Amino acid sequence: MTERIHNFNPGPAALPLSVLEEVQAEMLHFKNSGMSILEISHRSELFGEVLASARNRARRLFNLPDNYRVLFIQGGASLQFAMAPMNFLGPEDRADYINTGTWATKAFEQASLLGKKVRYAASSEEKAFSFIPKTADLDPKARYVHITSNNTIRGTQWQHYPDTGEVPLVCDMCSDIFSRPVPVEKFGLIYAGAQKNLGPSGLTLAIIREDMLHWNPDAVMPTLMRYKTYSDHYSMYNTPPCFGIYVAEKVMAWLENEIGGLEKMAALNRAKAERLYRALDATDFYQGTAEKEDRSPMNVTFRLKNTELEPVFIREALAAGLGGLKGHKSVGGCRASLYNATGMDAVESLVNFMDDFEKRKG
Ligand SMILES: *Cc1c(COP(=O)(O)O)cnc(C)c1O
Repeated sequence: MTERIHNFNPGPAALPLSVLEEVQAEMLHFKNSGMSILEISHRSELFGEVLASARNRARRLFNLPDNYRVLFIQGGASLQFAMAPMNFLGPEDRADYINTGTWATKAFEQASLLGKKVRYAASSEEKAFSFIPKTADLDPKARYVHITSNNTIRGTQWQHYPDTGEVPLVCDMCSDIFSRPVPVEKFGLIYAGAQKNLGPSGLTLAIIREDMLHWNPDAVMPTLMRYKTYSDHYSMYNTPPCFGIYVAEKVMAWLENEIGGLEKMAALNRAKAERLYRALDATDFYQGTAEKEDRSPMNVTFRLKNTELEPVFIREALAAGLGGLKGHKSVGGCRASLYNATGMDAVESLVNFMDDFEKRKG
């Protein structure tokens, strides 16, 4: 296949073509250095500029108040599942978790593994995680409430973040970071592996409220597990994931300059999702799996009424230049991930294909 396909991959996922082209153009000679970005010191001025720009762009996109820090970490969201409770919970501290699917469960499991006092304040497990809980039995003394902003596997998203009063949200925002504006003041920590909406895997963006860097100061933990290490050293205590930061900086530049910020990005994302959900709802040949009011604009999960046709659908779609439509292995079915870089042209092509497929097989 020599043409680029329409990419509906769940992650790692599509990146803006203009970003890939820039990376390609700079690969042998980054800014007249005679080297690629992969070959220069992370302590060099050239990389320092990239890092500072990435940090500033994240600040601007989220309109971050002064008391938030932007950190670049490795280890993916899965390491954050452990780092957050290690950093925030002393021996007597408690935290609430809301269980909206696989990743939320994994976050809870890591906190439990560490012996932390955590409990589920709400769950949507009884209906196969097809919805977002509307009420929660919150502990007013909890140090934080952990949520998963967008449930990549089940195709649900928090449309309104829960009201937790003074208790800060700690949020896994892997699969919808920078897809819409966010009321940052509600959050103590936002973290996201880059590979869904921001860049290559191997980089995690963390946005943390300054005072929370100093919670649980007596805990013994590896230096690299402590958020304060990243804050004190501008994410350069050790060699950071330079290439990931470099690509993420370009993706954020694209968001700021080509898209025009998160309000605009959110409107585009809504339009794409509405187009696809409208097509799903127009027929019972296809069936969305998430409850309508909680549907994710990022990950559109659906089944074919005749589930035996699903592998055929996925295979023929790929042959037609539409890739990445297989549902997560734990749930099966189909999933179209419509991250920021997947355009309306891709959605239109998918809708046309679905229509044609139904006419042939329905
Ligand atoms: C992909 C994903 C993860 C896993 O991230 P890793 O970086 O592989 O650890 C966690 N949470 C959510 C919501 C995801 O979409």
